[in-house]
Amino acid sequence: MLFIKRLITAFLDALFPNKCIGCDAIIPKGESVCAFCLENLSKTNFDTRCKVCGNLKKECNCKYHIFHFTGATAPFYNDGTAQKIMYAFKFNRKLHFAKFFAERMVISVKSDFYGTDFDCVVYVPMALKKELKRGYNQSRELAKEVSKILNIPLIENALGCNGKRFPQHKTKLKERFANVKGMYFPNVSLSGRNVLLVDDIKTTGATLDECAKALFKAGANDVYCVTGLISKRKQKKR
Ligand SMILES: [Zn+2]
Ligand SMILES: [Zn+2]
Repeated sequence: MLFIKRLITAFLDALFPNKCIGCDAIIPKGESVCAFCLENLSKTNFDTRCKVCGNLKKECNCKYHIFHFTGATAPFYNDGTAQKIMYAFKFNRKLHFAKFFAERMVISVKSDFYGTDFDCVVYVPMALKKELKRGYNQSRELAKEVSKILNIPLIENALGCNGKRFPQHKTKLKERFANVKGMYFPNVSLSGRNVLLVDDIKTTGATLDECAKALFKAGANDVYCVTGLISKRKQKKR
């Protein structure tokens, strides 16, 4: 029986080989990304990004909007293989990538927010209906790992979400800020705390900013943001 089982496994492996998420190269079973793709992920650069909004300095959004959070950072740009990995994590239940991103997000936090003592980690909440459908909130999964690595407590459900989070990718900068206005509210007191806010992708920063506002309402002293990816694309003012 064992022999037949092995034969079937070998047959299926030959028929459906394990492929790299980035380039489709055949890679060993259990792995997700090949060494070449891992090496060539679109990493953000400490020297060329704005320390407040996290964008490239030449694409800085701070001139269009005064952000409430003190700073935002991310290890990767929202393109190429890094984006494919994030989508696999976010939409295809590849939850092991939470650790992959968290390890790199922590490095960004330590370099960009050097010397800041964080009291807690929180995450951007999802509308309940959406979370039930997906089965998990990817931002919470990232926050759990970030909290573990940094050894800073995670506060579950620190923020609540008022209904629907609009798909933000097709709207203009001003609309994005309007779409999320009043969407988040605090569930706990964060009096005097320095908060590290975690999300999966930062595009304009509208969601993070709205969450930061809610965190300040809860009494937070300072709010810093870290995401797995940050969009490089320039946002036009309207
Ligand atoms: Zn590859
Ligand atoms: Zn900026």
